[in-house]
Amino acid sequence: MNDLKIFDSHTHINSSAFDNDVPEVIQRSQALDVSKMLVLGYDETSNQRLEDLVKQYPGVVYGAVGCHPEDALAYDDEYEAMLMRYLQQDGFVAVGEIGMDYYHDSPKQAQVNAFERQIELAQKLDLPIVVHNRDAIEDCYDILKNMNIKKSGAIMHSFNGDATWAEKFLDLGMYLSYSGVVTFNNAKEVKQAAEITPMDRILVETDAPYLTPMPFRGRKNEPAMTRYTLEFLAQAKGVSASQLAQATFANTQKVLKINN
Ligand SMILES: [Zn+2]
Repeated sequence: MNDLKIFDSHTHINSSAFDNDVPEVIQRSQALDVSKMLVLGYDETSNQRLEDLVKQYPGVVYGAVGCHPEDALAYDDEYEAMLMRYLQQDGFVAVGEIGMDYYHDSPKQAQVNAFERQIELAQKLDLPIVVHNRDAIEDCYDILKNMNIKKSGAIMHSFNGDATWAEKFLDLGMYLSYSGVVTFNNAKEVKQAAEITPMDRILVETDAPYLTPMPFRGRKNEPAMTRYTLEFLAQAKGVSASQLAQATFANTQKVLKINN
């Protein structure tokens, strides 16, 4: 396949799992046509590392910062000011990942507060949000529904609901991003959701170093692997890999407002 261009819409090459191999990781991603990636920070160290990567790889690495629901208790004015400092720099294009998570032990009211405040921050800056949900899909949906998220743009990251939930989030104007989870044998419902996600609303991602797609499950994930999830999704949707690459690349650029 020639001229494929793939956008990994969610990855963490700023994590300590990639302390020693970022240049090789970028090289391997380019070799598999994964030419751009959105990298998300989640704490002080990873945000700082992200800032360096955005400067080092302009046009390849784009940044997003946000307070993960696991750390919701830490969210205050000072935290918000720190996010603003990053978000005003070139190459920082989204607020995330933010959202709801009942898997980890983080108080619900603090999560709701951090989530809502960061949606408002994104709207103020006219930046899209990248949403994380784990075991909290109903509350996550209700909060998104009550905020006016369509205008600044919104991505459900590693979408893990079924087709009925997919319809509901699509109705809010959201983009649905699929990770290696969709390739797992025990994720048939997520595959069905991907099948009904329209070509102009679907994205693809790794969430590296986690969620390595089949047939490499168990190995450390990296942006290059977006290629395998893309090929799996293309087959599920009955389109060619290049058609899906083109669509997901254009969708990611559109929601992140990237023009090059
Ligand atoms: Zn993530």
